[in-house]
Amino acid sequence: MSTSSPGGIGLSGWGNYPKASSELLTPQTPAGARDHLLARSGVVARGAGRAYGDAAIGTQSTISSRGLNRMRSFDAATARLTVEAGVTIADILAVFEPRGFFLKVVPGTKFVTIGGAIAADVHGKNHHRDGGFGTIVDSFRLALPGGEIVTCSRSENAALFAATLGGMGLTGMILDATLRLLPI
Ligand SMILES: Cc1cc2nc3c(=O)[nH]c(=O)nc-3n(C[C@H](O)[C@H](O)[C@H](O)COP(=O)(O)OP(=O)(O)OC[C@H]3O[C@@H](n4cnc5c(N)ncnc54)[C@H](O)[C@@H]3O)c2cc1C
Repeated sequence: MSTSSPGGIGLSGWGNYPKASSELLTPQTPAGARDHLLARSGVVARGAGRAYGDAAIGTQSTISSRGLNRMRSFDAATARLTVEAGVTIADILAVFEPRGFFLKVVPGTKFVTIGGAIAADVHGKNHHRDGGFGTIVDSFRLALPGGEIVTCSRSENAALFAATLGGMGLTGMILDATLRLLPI
């Protein structure tokens, strides 16, 4: 299932400028996101729209991750959490902070998605010491523009993993990711 806006709607980033017309697609499953990507060009993924400029506006179509909002699995022994790309940092903190876990890297707003945090390799106030968000990412699944879904990590498709951290959505759409939480 998916919602779409044929003909396009005006989208902007957090700075509210520029505003541009783009078809907005909101798939509810990772496979649905891949199908949208495969069928279109001039398309980019969008998370919570907290980027200030136009990074999350496709020239023709924009695929929102907001329907991909499930937490998939958690292993308390290793602190590994797997979530879909539209889960936000706020969602994770609401569930896991009371259970004694935090994220080592958080930006100035918690209302960003995990897909957006990876794509911008966001940083916190501890950047000089702990690095960017990518340092807590073990792996993710990426839908490539050709429709293939690949798993990327430091040992599997390592070049694509590195290019996607801070790649601003230009390598494809992140579908889900496994993160290392910080026990507190
Ligand atoms: C109040 C405020 C404070 C901020 N503070 C900081 C800070 O301290 N440090 C910092 O680093 N940033 C900061 N930012 C910027 C923000 O963290 C980044 O812009 C972040 O990428 C936004 O995430 P998002 O989910 O809203 O993504 P969007 O804004 O929707 O998208 C951002 C980029 O990520 C790509 N993207 C989104 N989802 C996916 C996906 N599933 N697959 C592939 N690509 C995807 C988009 O194509 C786009 O290029 C701040 C922003 C605000 C509004």
